[in-house]
Amino acid sequence: MFDVIIAGCGPTGATLAAELRLHGVRVLVLEKETEPVSYVRIVGLHIRSIELMAMRGLLERVLEHGRKRPAGAYYAAIDKPAPPGLDSAHAYLLGIPQPVIVQLLEEHAIAQGAQIRRGCTVTGLEQDDDEVTVELADGERLRTRYLVGCDGGRSTVRKLLGVGFPGEPARTETLMGEMEASAPQQEIAATVAEISKADRRFVFGPAGAGAYRVVIPAAGVSDRAEPPTLDDFRQQLRAIAGTDFGVHSPRWLSRFGDATRLAERYRVGRVLLAGDAAHIHPPIGGQGLNLGVQDAFNLGWKLAAQVRGWAPETLLDTYQAERHPVAEDVLDNTRAQMELNSTEPGPRAVRRLLTELMDIDEVNRRLLEKITAIGIRYDFGAGPDLLGRRLPDLDVKQGRLYGLLQHGRGLLLDRTGRLTPGGWSDRVDHLGDPTAALDAPCVLLRPDGHVAWIGDDQRDLDVQLSRWFGETE
Ligand SMILES: Cc1cc2nc3c(=O)[nH]c(=O)nc-3n(C[C@H](O)[C@H](O)[C@H](O)COP(=O)(O)OP(=O)(O)OC[C@H]3O[C@@H](n4cnc5c(N)ncnc54)[C@H](O)[C@@H]3O)c2cc1C
Repeated sequence: MFDVIIAGCGPTGATLAAELRLHGVRVLVLEKETEPVSYVRIVGLHIRSIELMAMRGLLERVLEHGRKRPAGAYYAAIDKPAPPGLDSAHAYLLGIPQPVIVQLLEEHAIAQGAQIRRGCTVTGLEQDDDEVTVELADGERLRTRYLVGCDGGRSTVRKLLGVGFPGEPARTETLMGEMEASAPQQEIAATVAEISKADRRFVFGPAGAGAYRVVIPAAGVSDRAEPPTLDDFRQQLRAIAGTDFGVHSPRWLSRFGDATRLAERYRVGRVLLAGDAAHIHPPIGGQGLNLGVQDAFNLGWKLAAQVRGWAPETLLDTYQAERHPVAEDVLDNTRAQMELNSTEPGPRAVRRLLTELMDIDEVNRRLLEKITAIGIRYDFGAGPDLLGRRLPDLDVKQGRLYGLLQHGRGLLLDRTGRLTPGGWSDRVDHLGDPTAALDAPCVLLRPDGHVAWIGDDQRDLDVQLSRWFGETE
């Protein structure tokens, strides 16, 4: 009997496993692939995800494998630098291939004590008031108190739950892969430069060790899970470039579509959904992985609290209440970005107009805060603007603020010198006289770094401590 089983060891599942382990939850991750996937998908980690890595002591490792790039120019690939004075100690994009970040997250989860079983495909589930039974493809049945479907856009768990996934089907598909080519390099470069002028989606560039990364519109929409063949690439290259450049020896081949869909519910009883299992959208702006990792940070401590028995009645449901609107906003901004990348005259005119408007720092900042997720404000009720937002990684006497959040506990940043977490000290740490940079007398931070309360009154604080951290003995 496990506390939590996670279906899928992609970035979302691996992150969630590690978050749950911070609280001693017995967690098993079931992954259908026997080996980690090798194809490269992402542009990188945006600011909020980088901050979360810092918050759990992972940033140094991640930085060793990534490349810092400027934070701006990702909204619809409109070439504008980030506005000045971004409110983050980590105001850059971290270029890192998806297989590398997944491996680091998986290693971290294992180091925290998570069990990961590869070659296990979840095919069935049953739940009652007390537990969930998970069925695997080989007929094995496992019991758990909670199940989380982190099993990607075609989520079996979501389908087994019968949760609707409304939205728009794919209108176009793109082939992507790495392969070698026998045509001379200069000939390839000249042809590619010509095509890219008219079609932003066409990429044929060096991928290291003599291979090329190829991204090319597919002939139609197949909506199949299987990877394309090298012949599919050859045909499309001939159709678009007039030559297939003699491509051969593929390292990996993949395809993706531009479907946009959002799960109607993130929770049915003891089963929850996170990451691509809950939302899919075109990769423009590079937000999907980031969104899934951030879902996991939101869910992890709440589910752990539920398992440990101290969660307030409604805490687990705040996961959907907070994260569903965030995903809705990401879906909308990718829809907008797709329009801005259209080659039709109307959208091109809108793109020119927006490009001009982005010279206004506030406009540029708002768009960047969306893509990087640092602008998120959860609705915790009426209060100062900071309420519901994340605190940046402030300088505090003890070093950096995020260094104090590594164990996934709450934190009271108390400039009054009078307040205390009292009976909640086993879940909430106290930091007296933290920093002058904090523009409030006292702030209660949740384990995900969001501001749960601001004030200077102990009775108010106690109400909020029990709202977020349950009753004490
Ligand atoms: C071309 C491209 C570029 C992208 N670029 C970016 C980017 O720059 N930035 C960004 O943030 N995002 C990007 N994304 C999106 C990102 O790749 C996804 O959002 C991300 O992988 C979602 O992570 P996940 O863990 O939720 O799901 P997945 O990565 O899909 O992982 C799901 C896991 O579940 C496993 N699984 C599936 N079914 C079962 C089952 N029944 N039982 C057990 N295991 C199962 C799968 O094998 C897989 O390992 C891009 C996507 C594409 C296609």
